[in-house]
Amino acid sequence: MTEELKTKLTQIEKTYTEKIHQTASLKNLQDLQVAALGRKGELTELLKNLKDLPLEDKKTFGPLSNALKTKLTTAFEQKQTELETAAVNEELNKTNLDLTLPAYTFDKGARHPLSIAQKRMTTILSRLGFVWSEGPLIEDNYHNFDALNIPKHHPARDVQDTFFIKNAKEDKFVLRTHTSGVQIRAMEKQKPPIRLIAPGRVYRKDDIDATHSPVFNQIEGLYIDKNVSLADLKRDLSVFMQGLFGQKAAVRFRPSFFPFTEPSVEVDVKCVFCEGKDAGCPVCKGTGWKEMLGAGIVHPNVLKNCGIDPQIYSGYAFGMGVERLAMFTLDIKDIRAFYENDVRILEQF
Ligand SMILES: [Zn+2]
Repeated sequence: MTEELKTKLTQIEKTYTEKIHQTASLKNLQDLQVAALGRKGELTELLKNLKDLPLEDKKTFGPLSNALKTKLTTAFEQKQTELETAAVNEELNKTNLDLTLPAYTFDKGARHPLSIAQKRMTTILSRLGFVWSEGPLIEDNYHNFDALNIPKHHPARDVQDTFFIKNAKEDKFVLRTHTSGVQIRAMEKQKPPIRLIAPGRVYRKDDIDATHSPVFNQIEGLYIDKNVSLADLKRDLSVFMQGLFGQKAAVRFRPSFFPFTEPSVEVDVKCVFCEGKDAGCPVCKGTGWKEMLGAGIVHPNVLKNCGIDPQIYSGYAFGMGVERLAMFTLDIKDIRAFYENDVRILEQF
């Protein structure tokens, strides 16, 4: 029995070592491995039978068989690496691949200048505690006009200025002309304090020229709490402007009129190009100031429309065009440059 086993082991070693050496294909090598070490392979079967041997023989043949298993496993692995390397080399020779050629270059993408501008603005505002809010692009007349204290005869409601969405019965919906609807919806749902910004696309029936586009981006802001005054508005918007244009940026507040705020102001920043010293400056047209945004104390009627008691709460709101600020900060002369996506322009930022 033991002699028979010894012969068997020697025979398995000899046969498979020889066959591995002669094999020229990966497929044959795999078949060979299964035949020797597979679940029903020759050596596996032999190892299974060891358990029936007397203890002494187990002690002799156990280690011998395991050593052979390790030896064959290593031989199979070495041969496999050898065959695979040969296959790769053959493939390379066939395709005439020149590894010394320079690699293809890829154009690297970058943020769009509008995204850069919007990110800068929203980052500063979020540091001031404003939370990003969103709303529908198709807005109903109530949230776009009525709730904002915009009277029925106001020119903004003119079909010349607004894209109305035709409905068989009435013109009830519009493409939002500002993101103020987001403010209204927030006030309807939420109790003060409210501190939000509403960035997003808005639509107006403007002809396209160097400074107008029927689609553009806005960021509006709203802060409602007890005792919010024009002083809070001036402080926060000054901090915002200085965040955008630098600590030394001069900011100016001018009285204005909007139906949804009272009092209302326009906020200008000192021209960063000429600092007011060039009467021929094309950016500020020689005035030394550039209008940046509109703002004001939220009209009591607007608060009432949203179920907020104007006797208890007050607040300020502001709105600005992302394109306008981006044109000023990035020195882009034509608004169309943002939408035409000419990479020669986009690459500069
Ligand atoms: Zn200027």
